[in-house]
Amino acid sequence: MYFVSSLSQYIVMSRIEEEKRVVELMIRLYCRHKEGNAELCESCQALLQYAHARLSKCPFGDKKSTCRLCTIHCYKPNMRDKMRAVMRYAGPRMLLHHPWYALKHIWQELR
Ligand SMILES: [Zn+2]
Repeated sequence: MYFVSSLSQYIVMSRIEEEKRVVELMIRLYCRHKEGNAELCESCQALLQYAHARLSKCPFGDKKSTCRLCTIHCYKPNMRDKMRAVMRYAGPRMLLHHPWYALKHIWQELR
């Protein structure tokens, strides 16, 4: 039991940092596979910076749910559209490329 409670404490504490990492992985995956760029392109870089800034300012802090359920609602329209496209593409592929992050993400949404 101790292990379980300290594990969930760790997850809650690092929620925002974790979220930033997942968003970055998804944007990189999208840019590389969907857009065919070797390096993160300018518009994806802008989206990533925007997403990280939004996460840092998130009023829900560590109590927030995952980005799919929450962040999207506070994005400005053009960033939101791009983020939607990124998530639609990278979401299912995360299971393939980063199964641990993907599973953790799904688990957080279910809580
Ligand atoms: Zn790109």
